[in-house]
Amino acid sequence: MFNAYAASDPESRLEKFEYDPGPIGLDEVEIAVEFCGVCHSDLSMKQNDWGMTEYPFVGGHEVVGRIVNVGENVEGLEVDQRVGVGWTASSCLRCEQCHSGYQNRCPDSVGTIVGRHGGFADRLRAQSDWAIPIPEGVDPVDCGPLFCGGLTVFNPFVENQILPTARVAVIGIGGLGHMALQFANAWGCEVTAFSTSPDKEEEARKMGAHHFLNSRDENALQSVAGRFDMVLDTVNASLDFDAYINTLRPGGKLHLVGAVDKIEATVFPMIAGEKSLGGSPTGSIVRAKEMLEFCARHEIKPMIETFPMSDVNEALRHLAEGKARYRVVLKADW
Ligand SMILES: [Zn+2]
Ligand SMILES: [Zn+2]
Repeated sequence: MFNAYAASDPESRLEKFEYDPGPIGLDEVEIAVEFCGVCHSDLSMKQNDWGMTEYPFVGGHEVVGRIVNVGENVEGLEVDQRVGVGWTASSCLRCEQCHSGYQNRCPDSVGTIVGRHGGFADRLRAQSDWAIPIPEGVDPVDCGPLFCGGLTVFNPFVENQILPTARVAVIGIGGLGHMALQFANAWGCEVTAFSTSPDKEEEARKMGAHHFLNSRDENALQSVAGRFDMVLDTVNASLDFDAYINTLRPGGKLHLVGAVDKIEATVFPMIAGEKSLGGSPTGSIVRAKEMLEFCARHEIKPMIETFPMSDVNEALRHLAEGKARYRVVLKADW
């Protein structure tokens, strides 16, 4: 039996929960969870914000641990190896997207916490391809958040072919944004942080921001009109999108990774300036590996606060109240 913490409905606290995972799949690995990050998506899923939650619900999709069992067909991974698993637990590996190396876009991919139980547990299983080995130089305590939040903000730099000469802005200095600032700085870009919290300026600069602007200040937004090659929006709140599109250089892109419900934007400036608007879901398998190497090389890591996994309810409340600085990680204490 696997031990986990589960919510029985959107409102309830997580309680101890045991489940029988059945026999291990031929292509699966089983991981003894050491650490698991807490992502805003865990909260959204617990509350069934996206209408796809099954209860009892076990969150946790920033998992780090050691392999304790491998399925019969698994190659290239072995027992005792340390790996991480993020938002995706499996994909078909046969469709056009998977064959193109975009397994994160696979229509048949399975989310680690969607219709199955995640990493707020002592054990987790995943398709071996999605269990990413953790390289030397990356500390297991704080690398969990790289597997969802980190990958989500790393991927846009590659997919948008951001050059070191680019000027990049990040909206929201939170769980995702604070990692995005570090990536942007290590990439070589000129980095601007947009935040509604002036008290975050000092830390944002430490994380690599060259400029810090208060996003509630219209003049601040005006002062950077036509400036950025990419504006990376990490907040899941409705914004004045026209004002941010106005900060893009011609050819620039407003890239959304914050899961806001709907956006409203004026089309003409996008036509006139050949500006674009888009988003992306986490990243592919190879992108995850590249990101980990990049983090090891540039000593990039999330700033974390740790809680024992038995305090998972407190950890979730801390995140929900906007108090996390900047990412919460649970340490297994079964
Ligand atoms: Zn996540
Ligand atoms: Zn596929």
